[in-house]
Amino acid sequence: MGGLTGPSLWAAMVAVAAVGGLVIYFGYGTWLYYRHYVRRRDEAEAWKLQPKRWPSPALHRWAIAVAAGNMALGGLLSGTFAYFVVTRGFSALYLDVDDYGWGYTLVSTVVVFMAIEAAAYYTHRLLHGRFMFKHVHQWHHRLVAPTPYSTVTMHPVEFTMLQCAAFLPALVIPVHYVAFIGLLLYALVFNLMDHSGIRIRHLLPWHSSSSFHDDHHLCFHCNYGQHIALFDRLHGTHRRHGRRYGKDVFGGRGAADGAAEPGAFVEY
Ligand SMILES: [Zn+2]
Ligand SMILES: [Zn+2]
Repeated sequence: MGGLTGPSLWAAMVAVAAVGGLVIYFGYGTWLYYRHYVRRRDEAEAWKLQPKRWPSPALHRWAIAVAAGNMALGGLLSGTFAYFVVTRGFSALYLDVDDYGWGYTLVSTVVVFMAIEAAAYYTHRLLHGRFMFKHVHQWHHRLVAPTPYSTVTMHPVEFTMLQCAAFLPALVIPVHYVAFIGLLLYALVFNLMDHSGIRIRHLLPWHSSSSFHDDHHLCFHCNYGQHIALFDRLHGTHRRHGRRYGKDVFGGRGAADGAAEPGAFVEY
């Protein structure tokens, strides 16, 4: 974007971020959807995590429209963030690996991954408080069986909160800009897979299978983590065998239903 300055540079960065985000979201989402929901619709038992549950056409259209609006909003937010990074040095991002060395660059990438995960977990827990759930987060939970298109189907307030939570670590932890952009793309692509409703066991050993977040939509108040189960295990909000979960069972630990001891964690 050489030569551009001020408002035209900002507008160009917003446009690139919005178009890039929309292309990845609807390109990859449609690929996942077409290969399973269209071509293998008749054999859903073989691939679908909740084979009996399909969104109504109206809910499906609503999910796509809200997601498209949020991806455009995401372009505005991330393009504006990038503009302030480039023009004002607004963040702790660095451009040259030699500034900190390869060792630090690799370690800081892992640290920022964990920081983004922590920010996502605690923001998500906040959204599962009674007030926030009723007024904001319920939008995202309208699809009990999520589809690739419903990954960012959520209230715009929630989308803004989650986007800011993802940017936060780059304001305080020095991290290479390519690593940071890579982590944001990782979050987008894996969130698409984890909302696909398709049974997927990821090759990355730290990443829970797609049923971890699918179970979050099925059970509502447990499994708040974005990619990994660590924070849920630490706080006891991981789904357990022998507990009852549902829309009205708040708190993340399910209902005892007469069981004396909490059951073992469900394996993902
Ligand atoms: Zn939730
Ligand atoms: Zn979700």
